[in-house]
Amino acid sequence: NSQKKVGIIGSGLIGRSWAMLFAGAGYTVKMYDVLEEQLQDAMISIRGQITDLESQGLLRGSLSADVQCSLITTSNNIADVVKDAVHIQECVPENIDLKKKVLKSVSDACTSNSTVICSSTSCILPSKIFSHLPRVGQCIVAHPCNPPYHCPLTEIVPHPQTEQSVIIKTKAIMAEIGQTPVMLNREVDGFGLNRIQYAILNESWRLVEDGIMSPEDVDKIFTDGLGMRYAFIGPYQTIHLNAEGTKNYMERYSESIIRVSKSFGPVPTFDGKSLNSIHESISSEIPSTPADLEKKRKWRDERLVALSKLKQEM
Ligand code: NAD
Repeated sequence: NSQKKVGIIGSGLIGRSWAMLFAGAGYTVKMYDVLEEQLQDAMISIRGQITDLESQGLLRGSLSADVQCSLITTSNNIADVVKDAVHIQECVPENIDLKKKVLKSVSDACTSNSTVICSSTSCILPSKIFSHLPRVGQCIVAHPCNPPYHCPLTEIVPHPQTEQSVIIKTKAIMAEIGQTPVMLNREVDGFGLNRIQYAILNESWRLVEDGIMSPEDVDKIFTDGLGMRYAFIGPYQTIHLNAEGTKNYMERYSESIIRVSKSFGPVPTFDGKSLNSIHESISSEIPSTPADLEKKRKWRDERLVALSKLKQEM
């Protein structure tokens, strides 16, 4: 794929990860940013990460760390980045007006009808950022999960006018670079991942707010319960296996599921007394100082790496 080029717009946390993923599959990657020092930082950080991954045996693809690094270069000229690219991945901060502006300049610089213009947005609907573009048919969202290198899920969300061929190409390129694309047939606020994550957060919050459980014990429901399974089977396979198939599961349990679900309270406001007490409670184990948070993040990332290694062996 060294002949095929990908453009990355924005060289922050997510832009860097995409650059590494595309280089891992042999794409030539050009990264653009408005800040020259961000680009320089990005190159140093990418080289460090790729070298570390290689020494841990976790580098994706068959190319060496040196070759992968050599595939990634930077430019401060958007036309240079967009020219002849098969795919552009936009990774600028999560702000509608900024994204609209940046995507317009990408679209204007685009000279080919076959270049896919893809946004990494976490929660802005495609219709809010692509509708003004003449090349709207070439535009689509691919929302990664952080950190993308170790959590391969990528949500593909088309604009209502995205061409079918663009959807197919985007799914294919994501699978090719080792991501796991999942498809939303139409746009919906929060996409799939955050809708489910927020449903979990809502009930977790209510259980604490209503004085039924402590935040620490709610977390254990995931770390020592649901999460043990969810790393390799989702809720659908879970119920299928917990009875004699899905139909049998629902014959046995749908009444309880509906009864319990009807007892869920309203959406919490996530403020006031419960916010204070939940914050205090979690901070007693992980103080909210930058150093303590960083230490715990490092621990989390190491656990994630170990888990993704385990999953590769499955
Ligand atoms: P970030 O702040 O780390 O990086 C943004 C980069 O964009 C910076 O390097 C900045 O200099 C650059 N930038 C700003 N204005 C620009 C412009 N006009 N043109 C080009 N570059 C510009 O942000 P991030 O965490 O990498 O997030 C980028 C996108 O990815 C956001 O839409 C975010 O919602 C999405 N995303 C983030 C995560 C996450 O966990 N961080 C996960 C999934 C998706």
